[in-house]
Amino acid sequence: MIPERSDHYPFRAIETKWQRVWEETGLFRVREEPGRPKFYCLEMFPYPSGRIHMGHVRNYAIGDAVTRYKRMRGYNVLHPMGWDAFGLPAENAAIENGVHPAVWTYENIETMKSQMKALGISYDWDREVATCDPEYYRWEQLIFVRMFERGLAYRKSARVNWCPGCQTVLANEQVEAGRCWRCDSEVVPREIEGWYFKITAYAEELLEWCDRLTGWPERVLTMQRNWIGRSEGAEFDLPVAGRPGLAVRVFTTRPDTSFGMTYVVLAPEHPLVDQLVDADERAGVAAFRAEVARQSEIERLATDRPKRGLRLRAQAVNPFTGATVPLYLADYVLMGYGTGAIMAVPGEDQRDWDFAVAHGLPIIETVRRPEGWSGEAYTGDGVKINSGFLDGLTVAQAKRRAIDWLVAQGIGEAKVNYRLRDWGISRQRYWGAPIPIVYCPRCGTVPERPENLPVVLPEDVQITGKGGSPLADVPAFVNAPCPRCGGPGRRETDTMDTFVESSWYFLRFCSPRHQGGLAEPGAVHYWMPVDQYTGGIEHAILHLLYARFYTKVLRDLGYFKLDEPFRNLFTQGMVIKDGAKMSKSKGNVVSPDDFIATYGADTGRVFELFMAPPEKDLEWSDQGVEGAFRFLNRVWRFFQAHRADVADAPPRPATLSPAGRAFRRTVHETVRRVTTDIEEFRFNTAISALHELVNAMHAFAAESLDRTPGGERASLLGEAIEVLVLLLAPFAPHLAEELWAQLGHAESVFRATWPSADPGALEREAVQVVVQVDGRVRTRLLVPPEIEDEHLRREALADAKVRPWLAAREVDRVVVVPGRLVNIVTRGAERAG
Ligand SMILES: [Zn+2]
Ligand SMILES: [Zn+2]
Repeated sequence: MIPERSDHYPFRAIETKWQRVWEETGLFRVREEPGRPKFYCLEMFPYPSGRIHMGHVRNYAIGDAVTRYKRMRGYNVLHPMGWDAFGLPAENAAIENGVHPAVWTYENIETMKSQMKALGISYDWDREVATCDPEYYRWEQLIFVRMFERGLAYRKSARVNWCPGCQTVLANEQVEAGRCWRCDSEVVPREIEGWYFKITAYAEELLEWCDRLTGWPERVLTMQRNWIGRSEGAEFDLPVAGRPGLAVRVFTTRPDTSFGMTYVVLAPEHPLVDQLVDADERAGVAAFRAEVARQSEIERLATDRPKRGLRLRAQAVNPFTGATVPLYLADYVLMGYGTGAIMAVPGEDQRDWDFAVAHGLPIIETVRRPEGWSGEAYTGDGVKINSGFLDGLTVAQAKRRAIDWLVAQGIGEAKVNYRLRDWGISRQRYWGAPIPIVYCPRCGTVPERPENLPVVLPEDVQITGKGGSPLADVPAFVNAPCPRCGGPGRRETDTMDTFVESSWYFLRFCSPRHQGGLAEPGAVHYWMPVDQYTGGIEHAILHLLYARFYTKVLRDLGYFKLDEPFRNLFTQGMVIKDGAKMSKSKGNVVSPDDFIATYGADTGRVFELFMAPPEKDLEWSDQGVEGAFRFLNRVWRFFQAHRADVADAPPRPATLSPAGRAFRRTVHETVRRVTTDIEEFRFNTAISALHELVNAMHAFAAESLDRTPGGERASLLGEAIEVLVLLLAPFAPHLAEELWAQLGHAESVFRATWPSADPGALEREAVQVVVQVDGRVRTRLLVPPEIEDEHLRREALADAKVRPWLAAREVDRVVVVPGRLVNIVTRGAERAG
């Protein structure tokens, strides 16, 4: 251990002392108190990967500042912490080091918990949960059974994203630029059977609520809206030429462009293809399909690569024109979106344009281009041209008219489509919650009986990381009686995506030991929704969308009356060092343990909250750390130097000296600033206001020594010191708690009341404003310093000494210099003067 620096305040003794007192007195333990306002403050719970890093510290310091502040504002604050404990790293560690994932996970939890305690974060540790605990995931399995009964959990075979590194399926949300979100391997497509949650059934509601989540960052909502990807358009039939009864159904967001259709594309997997092709075309189709199957969805949709296509002999008829157009198979059309077939309009769609150019197909413009247009496909608004009965209309008018026409013809209708796909939750790995399903030769797919839950993950398992789920090799697990007929059955060996656990943990925190269900409804009713949720922007479409979906599912299953889980969301920036995110591989990690030993936890918190606005990335700076440390030492020394002066300070005199009035105004302005800054997540400027307050205290203490009456000096310094300790408490809780005790308070500073600014102290004397007419001084006004410009303007124009000078003139403009000057300029004055 690094020896404590002797020239500084005894942070180590202070921090260990108060951490022990907080734990022994159960200061942060809370329970429901009906009638008392509640506040649920939550930071995204971590994956127990080993040790916490300074990025975590930033997240927790923000949440803890809010928590402690809200406590002092009188709220009953729930601030829990737990572990997102299932997942692949545990399994990979098992393969590499031969240690069981459970052992590895629980050891990491112990380490990280002790690190959090050394930071003094105000968690109610009685509520700690680990998602790998059967007492946790049994409820997840029960929810799965209920979802299965409602058709919200179902099994299907589909082309999925397969990570060769993790040897498992990934959800679309877990693929970033074609790579695995976790191990960065290139993701490959694979046809595989698996379990899905029907999140698409909630697409519309998830989207609608985006407009009502006023406490969320707009950036996150935009990402969610784009991910859900609602598009309005039309679906209609294109007859296949010469094949009565056969039609290709297409979806388009631009029915107004139908007259510009020059070809039609089917997804290679489209089931109609086999009926459309002649015997001699089959080999070519099979080869093309095989080629496309080697690409992932992401590659197929990429705009910067050539679009491959195969022309079929069959042709389609454009119902708008009666013209026949060629039919293609092409990789850029996906079976999962719309109908798996599109009408191609190269004039108004860039991907169609690229394909048409590559394959020598005609291009028809159906919207008049703006003057000087020189691009390729044109997607903007304009007047319809080359479009028969739609000519002369705007795009919006033509869309409606085209849909009306399709409906009248009986071949189509308006249609809404979503980009969102159902959430694939099957993972072919060991360290996850078992899916509670048994396959019975007689009854089929049967959910486990609720009274048989949890289906416990067996511990004695060989983990190799190869060849599917290791659970398949555990006969005691696989061979299970059918829950319906009792006959021999086979248990599902896939486990659930770990994002399922994090979709409801905030509910479990409301009553973490509840035995009768996933959470006690009264506790959920009291604590939910989470009032302040804080975490990284990287969860914008994964966790944050899943948690919203899951909450709505639980509502519809009748568990809770709750539409949305998180009222306010804050996404903090990263902590970077030498220009890169801190990571073991880059060797730029600052260990919180070493940091705490050298500077103490309070310095770490103050540094991370002070150095950058919390939503921005924070560049690590050793000078910044030293600066935060110096600040806390300065507070300590000032306090020790003046504690005796202000002990038993007399009451404040009724009238103060000018210096005393100015000082007291600074103190109360600081109260006002720090309060609004915390409310608005500007911790950096709040701490900066505290720096200024300490400067003002130094100055006042020095200059008032001989000029201010003794009683006034002691009483004002005493008030200032008390205010400073209270305002410092959310940021440097250990130091503030120690100073509060030294001031003689028996109760914790976190049971004290947050100070409020005294309006009397904030008042300033009136300021004198000069009023000129055409540059000549006509009067002087005494006004409050915070007077608004408009108000000041009106007062100047109405003044009795000013009005005669305006009698025969017309006012041209009034120039206001706040706090100093109003100049009234009359028409023609400049020329005349
Ligand atoms: Zn991977
Ligand atoms: Zn059966």
